[in-house]
Amino acid sequence: MKFLCDEMLGGLARWLRAAGYDADMAVPGEADRGMVRRARAQSRRLITRDRALLQIKHARDIAILLHAQNLDGWAEELGKRHGLNWLLAPLSRCLVCNVNLVEADTEALSRMPEDSRALGGPFRMCPSCKRGYWPGSHVKRMKARLQGFAALAGQNPVEPP
Ligand SMILES: [Zn+2]
Repeated sequence: MKFLCDEMLGGLARWLRAAGYDADMAVPGEADRGMVRRARAQSRRLITRDRALLQIKHARDIAILLHAQNLDGWAEELGKRHGLNWLLAPLSRCLVCNVNLVEADTEALSRMPEDSRALGGPFRMCPSCKRGYWPGSHVKRMKARLQGFAALAGQNPVEPP
């Protein structure tokens, strides 16, 4: 499953990436019609809270209309009604670039904080922006939040890798 989030759901797109999904965001100012066209061309489900968008031709085939008011509610809706797995592949994608992370190279490793390197890996990097990802407290917090989403969606809270 691949996604395109409308402009109001940029925060959700980051969490979809954190869960391991390919989640694109609308370009600022992108017209609804353009989003529908792009989502169809790229086989993405278009996630929106805008009911009016469903009036666009072919939008109903690909749109997921969210009804909840906040992130926890959206997480529950997506898990329960649309088969999204919040523990698909936690922290396997760059949260900024939406591409799969790779093993950190020597240079990326050298830019990671000394004390985090002492904790052991995995140490990954984004092949696009070169940002480093290591299992620090931030990653632990994000994984805990994903576990929370999975629990809200009634999914088995197994320990992510
Ligand atoms: Zn990146």
